Amino acid sequence: MSSAELSVTDINNVVNDLSDIVGAENVLDREEGQKQFTGDMSWITDISIAHGQVASRQDVVVSPRSTKQVAAIMAYANKSRISVTPYGGGSGVQGAANADRGGILLNLRGMDKVRHLDEQSMTCDVECGYICKDFEAWLNERKLSFTHYPASTEWATIGGSLAARGSGVLSTKYGKIEDHVLSIELVTPTGEILNTPAVPRHGAGPELTQLLIGSEGTLGVITSITVQLRNLPTKRVFGCFAFKDLEAGISAGRNIMTTGLHPAALRLYDEPAARHSLGKAVGATFDSPVMIVMCEGEYDSIVDAEADVVFSICREQGGKDLGSQYGEAWWDKRYVYYYPPFAPALPMMWLTMDVVADFTHIGDVYHATTKAIHEAVDPSYNMALHTHFSHWYDWGSMIYPRIKIPKGPDSLKDAMELHDKIVKDATNAALTAGAVINDHHGVGLRLAPYMKDQLGDTGMGMLQSIKTGLDPNNILCPGKLGLG
Ligand SMILES: Cc1cc2nc3c(=O)[nH]c(=O)nc-3n(C[C@H](O)[C@H](O)[C@H](O)COP(=O)(O)OP(=O)(O)OC[C@H]3O[C@@H](n4cnc5c(N)ncnc54)[C@H](O)[C@@H]3O)c2cc1C
Repeated sequence: MSSAELSVTDINNVVNDLSDIVGAENVLDREEGQKQFTGDMSWITDISIAHGQVASRQDVVVSPRSTKQVAAIMAYANKSRISVTPYGGGSGVQGAANADRGGILLNLRGMDKVRHLDEQSMTCDVECGYICKDFEAWLNERKLSFTHYPASTEWATIGGSLAARGSGVLSTKYGKIEDHVLSIELVTPTGEILNTPAVPRHGAGPELTQLLIGSEGTLGVITSITVQLRNLPTKRVFGCFAFKDLEAGISAGRNIMTTGLHPAALRLYDEPAARHSLGKAVGATFDSPVMIVMCEGEYDSIVDAEADVVFSICREQGGKDLGSQYGEAWWDKRYVYYYPPFAPALPMMWLTMDVVADFTHIGDVYHATTKAIHEAVDPSYNMALHTHFSHWYDWGSMIYPRIKIPKGPDSLKDAMELHDKIVKDATNAALTAGAVINDHHGVGLRLAPYMKDQLGDTGMGMLQSIKTGLDPNNILCPGKLGLG
């Protein structure tokens, strides 16, 4: 029995077999499963549904409560050759959590317990299905913080954040999700349970934990994670600087990061983003690129000193000091963009890109990608393109273009063609200018065709060998990450 051919009788058998593992109340058949789990939060999902198409085609949904149950489900699916798609919060925007080839949707939201809090090492072993916001609230009650704040914190799970190699708004100080992780528990595609080494800095061969982070469900199911915690910050200092052009803002960011400073937030908005997006949210009129800065920590003197140096570097690059109020307003309103009336909705077409490069290339990447997106869309569509640089590293930064078209083509085929053309032209332009095709949203279905361009034949072959070795029957997320 293979998932491509599941008949009604097959599905009934699978429902019964999975019920034996997790209990009938934790299994949904195709009709109910497709009603309750319509797909991730990408425009691809919304437009497909609006045209009467099913974006996530699972035949069965199963909701395990323990690692043992996940292992039994994977062993069963492997033996029966049924494809499996892990599903966290479903907040991805690349189509990765959509079961586009049918089979089993593995809903991991029921695995949401804290297994162990180690206050001495300031680490916590937490199950994969815990929602980021809820986990943070649980920690905050104990004056602790996970410091991973994706804009999707309300929906994203810890496991999904690892699987997609996500990033939070304070990543410039605390790092991306991969920097928060010590070790993981993973169920392999054939149903074995793996615990990676207890700490991430070691000399015991290649780092298995890091190999599995970002695997988007293709190499195994992450069931539990040991993460690093911090004390809650007691002081925050905000700043806002207007630059005469984007290059001056990039230079300021570069000089801050290469000096070893780590403001928690450093967000450089290009002129359209500053004028139409940030300005509206914080109640300001901006007519040039703007950078929001925030430093935080537990010791006032360190936070003040860091902010002083960061602000002086901004001034050295010609930044006009606009005071603290817009930074404070941004912090208070940082989630408003994702709710009405700011959140995009059909008939609008919307998509974002997020590509990353070193300081030598990031300026070129911005200009090449911006040009490619404008050229890909006929001016009659009145596209809005707003770009900001939201995550900074010691060696570079990333750009986050947001594309909004008030009304896309009427037919699904034409709309998808326009969407795919924008993604293709922007991705190729970014790659040619020296970027890596994704910073933190992951690959999913949208970027799968570009993985070979990114990794080359040898790199892709290496990844495929690992996939085939772990998943000989190709049942876990087939096709995702461009893997066969
Ligand atoms: C409004 C909005 C704002 C966003 N802002 C951010 C942001 O600031 N930063 C950011 O990084 N992302 C952001 N995202 C994208 C999204 O929230 C992230 O990709 C998030 O990490 C996905 O987590 P999830 O639990 O929803 O995973 P899903 O969408 O459910 O799954 C994502 C992928 O991971 C796999 N997967 C899920 N759980 C597991 C597991 N336990 N084991 C193995 N594989 C698994 C799935 O099969 C799929 O391939 C945003 C999305 C939206 C809609």
